[in-house]
Amino acid sequence: MTVTDDLIRNVVQEVLSHMRNGQAAPGNGKGRAWGVFDDVDAAVNAAAEAQRQFERRGLDDRKKAVDCVRRICIERSEELGRDEFEETKIGRLVHKIEKLVVAGEKTPGVEFLKTEVSSGANGISLTEYAPFGVVGIITPVTHSLPTLAGNAINLLASGNAFVCNPHPSGARIACKGVQLFNQAIHQAIGIDNLLTIIGKPTLESAQAIFDHKGVRMLCVTGGPAVGRAALRSPKRAIVAGPGNPPVVVDETADLDNAARSIIAGGAYDNNLLCIGEKEVFAVASIFDELMEAMTRHKAVRLDKAQIEALTKQAIVAAPDDKSHLMAHKDFIGQDAAVLAQRIGLKVPADTELLFGETEDSQPFVTVEQMMPFVPFVRTKDVDTAIAMAKKYEHGFKHTAIIHSRNVETITRMGREMDVSLFVQNGPSQASLGAGGEGYLSFSIATPTGEGVTTPVTFTRQRRSTTAGGTRGV
Ligand code: NAD
Repeated sequence: MTVTDDLIRNVVQEVLSHMRNGQAAPGNGKGRAWGVFDDVDAAVNAAAEAQRQFERRGLDDRKKAVDCVRRICIERSEELGRDEFEETKIGRLVHKIEKLVVAGEKTPGVEFLKTEVSSGANGISLTEYAPFGVVGIITPVTHSLPTLAGNAINLLASGNAFVCNPHPSGARIACKGVQLFNQAIHQAIGIDNLLTIIGKPTLESAQAIFDHKGVRMLCVTGGPAVGRAALRSPKRAIVAGPGNPPVVVDETADLDNAARSIIAGGAYDNNLLCIGEKEVFAVASIFDELMEAMTRHKAVRLDKAQIEALTKQAIVAAPDDKSHLMAHKDFIGQDAAVLAQRIGLKVPADTELLFGETEDSQPFVTVEQMMPFVPFVRTKDVDTAIAMAKKYEHGFKHTAIIHSRNVETITRMGREMDVSLFVQNGPSQASLGAGGEGYLSFSIATPTGEGVTTPVTFTRQRRSTTAGGTRGV
């Protein structure tokens, strides 16, 4: 090994950082925290120190760090997916594993940072994308490690570090991921703590991250409360908020494809995804045929009494505001067969989705249910369907889906909905590159408008101008 000034500086900084954090000094790695901290201040300081080292490195080292995260997500997806499933006890194992693989494969990295050039008679200007520093991230229980890994890839590619407050019910897998990523990154480029995490997260530790002067930017992924909390902070916040994605089906749609797509999206990970199909508005002339098509693809139809029985148990008043309804924790992300069993109905274990006809004011339409029951509302025409879709999306500006072969209808709905993701004639996940074109993120910034996050989302633009020179031709 060549002993350079940089190497000596890194070793000294690392030892000091570990002394400050009260951890064992680096040696063979045993007893090291690898990014897990009890205390927000120590976590932010360690990440800040790591980021200062990282900032001096070139894009090659950023790519190496990103590749460590990608490799672990892909190669250890089975083990990590199983760990997440066992800890959170929601969703479906096969999709926990798949989400890690796609996070590793499809999250955009360093290649997204393209320097822009203006060149002319007056010289040259370059616009480059610089890191912010330490970014505070908040992750949801619905995809704890995939969100963290996707944020890590975006943030490392753009030269940032993060401090994470994970959801308490997905904290163990989030910490394991951070430790594995840090160990691999340390081995690859000699820097630890680019990713730090609070081992025992609370609302207070989240607030401490929001308030910490060493945190330059926030990226929160979750429901309405955390979005509001982040937007109250004076820091720049990227907010990936809740959704309640409606589906419109008109009389021109390919009904078999519509049914298969609604099932593929609404049943994925037991409907935990914020983009997942949550309610359907279908025009009367094809309504019965669409319902019939659903039953051909492992979806089971509930009757009125069964829907009422499920609603009574699965949608409840919020503890802090009785006028507000929410999904019951014990039903979120459970299998369709489990939901059926809770209302005394036996369905095949491999049932993908439960569905049934409801009024538009039914709680399963209004609430983001995050479980595999999808209500279908019969509408007199497509304009009514689009109006209802807009109403029940609640202005989240998240995701909407249409099944139609009429370009004018598709265009009108796209304009009306004004959502971050608008999908036509496929399942919702096509909008994140699964069966559709494009890249992926598990943080889709909705109220703040950045959409599917990329490394560029987490950068400051810097312009460098040479007046009157350096243009070669
Ligand atoms: P949640 O809102 O209960 O929790 C999300 C995170 O926010 C957790 O880490 C939680 O501890 C934290 N949190 C909650 N209230 C907070 C507060 N007042 N201050 C600080 N932190 C707070 O959501 P969840 O059940 O974990 O995830 C599901 C929700 O997230 C759904 O609404 C879903 O639509 C949304 N989501 C959105 C996206 C997106 O990309 N837009 C992605 C995944 C999930």
